[in-house]
Amino acid sequence: MAQIIDGKKISQDIKDELKEKVTALKDTGTEVALAVIQVGNDPASSVYVRNKKKACEYIGIRSLSYELPEETTEDALIELIEKLNKNETVNGILVQLPVPKHIDPDKIIRTISPEKDVDGFHPQNVGKLVIGEEGFVSCTPAGIIQLLKRSGISIDGKDCVVVGRSNIVGKPMAMLLLRENGTVTICHSHTKNLKEVCQRADILVAAIGKPKFFDESYVKDGAVVIDVGIHRNAENKLCGDVDYDKVADKVSAITPVPGGVGPMTIAMLMNNCVEAALRMNNR
Ligand code: NDP
Repeated sequence: MAQIIDGKKISQDIKDELKEKVTALKDTGTEVALAVIQVGNDPASSVYVRNKKKACEYIGIRSLSYELPEETTEDALIELIEKLNKNETVNGILVQLPVPKHIDPDKIIRTISPEKDVDGFHPQNVGKLVIGEEGFVSCTPAGIIQLLKRSGISIDGKDCVVVGRSNIVGKPMAMLLLRENGTVTICHSHTKNLKEVCQRADILVAAIGKPKFFDESYVKDGAVVIDVGIHRNAENKLCGDVDYDKVADKVSAITPVPGGVGPMTIAMLMNNCVEAALRMNNR
C-alpha cells in the first residue's frame, strides 16, 4: 500500500507552527505584514489572492490588500512597489501573477526588494539558492521538500528526476533536491527517452502541466511520486500530471491532487513572510 503524502495535514501543521511564532513575535512588539497586489480581476488570481489573505488571517499576519484596475500602468505599479519597499512595517510583497499583458512581469519581480520577495522569484534570491546562501525560495518547491521531510522520506543519495524546468517550479526544485544531496536529473520537452529516465527515479517530481501524462510505465516499483500539476478535467474534477489510479499501486509514496502539493504553496509563502520579519528584526 502506498503512503499517501497528506499535504493538507502537513500544511496545517506548518500554519499552526507559524501561528505560534507570529504570536511570540507580537509579544515582542513585531507585527508580520504582507502586501498583496493584484492587477485586474482574473478569476483564478482572485481565488489565489483570497486564499492567501485567509491564510494570513489564520496565522495572524496582517495583509494589506491592493486591488488595482486592469488598466494600471507599469509605472504606477512600480511606484507602489517602491513605496512598499521603503515601508518598514511591511515584511513581504507579493504581486499576483500573471499581470496584464502591458506590464512586464520580469521588471516587476526585479522591482521588489529581495528582502521582501516572499515568492522567491527575484534573480538575487534565485542566485542565492544556487550558491547555497540564505534567501527566499520559491514556495511550491520549498513545500515539496517539507512534504518529503515531514513524511520521513530521505533525499540523500537518491536518484531524483524533475520533469519540467520552469523558473518557479522545475529549476528551484532541482536545486533544492541537490542541496539535500539527491542525484538530480532535470527533464523537459527536448528530453530523449523520457520514460527511461523517469523509470530510474527513486523520487519523481512531475511538473509539466499535462493532465494524467505520467502512467505506471514511467514509474519504477517503490518510487516516490510528487505530482505538482493541477488541472480540471471534463467533469470539473481536479487532477494532476500523474495518472494517480494507474500509478498508486506501484509506488511507495505519492501526493494526491487535490490535497498534496497544492496546499503547501501557501503554507510556505506564510513561512517566508515570517522569515522576512525575523530577518528584518535581526538587521
Ligand atoms: P510551465 O508551463 O512553466 O513549464 C512546464 C515545463 O514542462 C517546461 O519546462 C516544459 O519543457 C516541460 N514539459 C512540457 N511538456 C513536456 C513533455 N511532454 N515532456 C517533458 N517535459 C515537458 O509550468 P509550471 O512549472 O509553471 O507548472 C507546471 C504544473 O504545475 C502546471 O500544471 C501548474 O498548474 C502546476 N503548478 C502547481 C502549483 C501548485 O501550487 N500546486 C504551483 C505552480 C504550478 P520546456 O521548458 O522544454 O518547454
